[in-house]
Amino acid sequence: MRVVQGMLEARSRSRFDIVDVTGEVEKWLAQIKAGNGVLVVYTPHTTAALAINEREEGLLDDIVELLKELTKPERRWKHNLVDDNAHAHLGNVIVGGDKVIPVSDGRLALGTWQRLLLLELDGPRVRRINLVYVGE
Ligand code: ZN
Repeated sequence: MRVVQGMLEARSRSRFDIVDVTGEVEKWLAQIKAGNGVLVVYTPHTTAALAINEREEGLLDDIVELLKELTKPERRWKHNLVDDNAHAHLGNVIVGGDKVIPVSDGRLALGTWQRLLLLELDGPRVRRINLVYVGE
C-alpha cells in the first residue's frame, strides 16, 4: 500500500462560481499511476467548499441560488464587521470542504453524472485542493 500526497489549484472567475475539477484530479491520479484505493480531496479554505454532483448549467445556477438563500450574503452578519464574507464561511460550514472518493483502476469511481465540484463562495481567487491517495 502506498500513500501519495499532492496539490492542485483551481481558479474561480467570480464571487460565486463552481469549478469542475474532476479532470485535473484524474490527471493527477494518472501521473502517480494510481491503482485501486481511495482518494481524500480536501480544500484548505474556510470560504470555499467541495461537492459531488451533476455539472448541468441550470443546476449549477440552482446550487448557487440555494446557497445564497441559505447564507443570505446581504444580511448583517457579525463577521461582516471585520471581513465582508460571512456568507462564504457559512456556506463552507453547510457544505463542507472534503470528500473521500473510491479509486478503481486509477480512475475516480464516480457515477455517470457525478463530477467533483469546487464551490467558490468568495471569489474570484485561486484555490488549493490537497489530495491524498491511499491504495496500491
Ligand atoms: Zn472572513
